[in-house]
Amino acid sequence: MIQRTPTRIEAHLSEHDGRSWQQLLSESITSPEILLDRLGLPAEHWLSGARAGHRLFPVRVPEPFLNRMERGNPEDPLLRQVLPLDQETRQVPGFVSDPLAEEGAIETTGLIRKYRSRALLMVTGQCAVNCRYCFRRHFPYDDQRLGPGDRQQVLDTLADSPEINEVIFSGGDPLAASDRLLAQWASAISSLPHIRRLRLHTRLPVVIPQRVCDALLKWLSTTPLQIIMVLHINHPAEIDRPTRRALGYLRAAGVTLLNQSVILKGVNDQADTLEQLSESLFEAGVMPYYLHAFDPVAGAHHYDVPDDDARALVRELLARLPGFLVPRLVREVPGRPGKTPLNLFP
Ligand code: SF4
Repeated sequence: MIQRTPTRIEAHLSEHDGRSWQQLLSESITSPEILLDRLGLPAEHWLSGARAGHRLFPVRVPEPFLNRMERGNPEDPLLRQVLPLDQETRQVPGFVSDPLAEEGAIETTGLIRKYRSRALLMVTGQCAVNCRYCFRRHFPYDDQRLGPGDRQQVLDTLADSPEINEVIFSGGDPLAASDRLLAQWASAISSLPHIRRLRLHTRLPVVIPQRVCDALLKWLSTTPLQIIMVLHINHPAEIDRPTRRALGYLRAAGVTLLNQSVILKGVNDQADTLEQLSESLFEAGVMPYYLHAFDPVAGAHHYDVPDDDARALVRELLARLPGFLVPRLVREVPGRPGKTPLNLFP
C-alpha cells in the first residue's frame, strides 16, 4: 500500500472567508445577468446574446474563478471561457453534438471505454464551471447517472476486463462528487488486482481551490492505487496563489499532477500565453501534458483554431522552452487506439 501523509489545510485555503467548497459550489453564479453585473459589463450590449447561449448550455461560474477576471474587460481570457454568446446559436457544418462519438463508446451505464487499457467512469454530471467550448456540452448525463444497481454492473465489467489497468474518474467534474462517494469508488476499484492506477480529470482544484480539503487528501493519500490528477488549465491567469497552494497539498499527498489545455481562439492562441502557461504550471508542480486541438462541438465554432496555426504555435514553443515544458499537440479521433499526435513538421 502506498502511504502518503495527509495534511491539514482547510484553515489555510478558506482563510479569506471561511466558506467550504460545497458552499462555494452551490453559490456559483448561474445567471447571465449576475455574471455581467459582477464584471461591470453593459447589459444593453451583452445580455441578449448571453441569454441566448445560456438557454443552450447554462452559465456556471464559481466565485473564486470570477475573482480572477478583470472587471470591465470583455476580452478577459478567463471570462471568454465562460461567457455565453449569441454565436453559440449558429449552426455550422462539421460542428456536431458528439464530436468524439462518445455515446457509441458507452460500455455500461456510467462507463465509457475508448481505449484498451483505460476506462472512464462518469462519477457525476455536475461541473463547477461550465466551459462554453466543452466537447461534452450536449452529453446526456441524465442517461448515464449511476443508480444503485449500476455500481455493481460497473465493477463486474471492470473485473471481467483484465486488460484495464487504469480507471479514470471523469464527468462532469468528478471532484464535484462527495469525498465519501469517491473514496467508496476508489476502495471498490482498488480491490480489483489488475487495476493499478486511478486518474482524475478535474478543473475543480483550479476554479475552487478550497476543494482540496482534508477529506480529499485523506482518501487520496491512503488508497493503494497510484493517483494521477489531470488538471484542465488553459491560461496562466487561472493559476493564482490559493490554486498554487492547493496544488502543493496534492503533491504532498503523493498525487502526480499533469495538465491538459485546449487551444482556444481569443484565450490562449498566442505563443507568449502558452509559454507563460507552461512556466506557471511547472512552478506550481504540474507537468504540461496535452494541448488538445479543438474538438468541433456544436455551439463553440468561434473558439476553433486551425490545425496549421496550432502547429505553428507549438513549433514556437519548441524554440522557446525545454522539451519537458512543451505539451503534446493531439487530437482525439473517434475509433483510434489513443490520442493522435499532430505532426508538427508536415
Ligand atoms: S469542467 Fe470539464 S467537463 Fe465541465 S464544462 Fe468544463 S471542460 Fe466540460
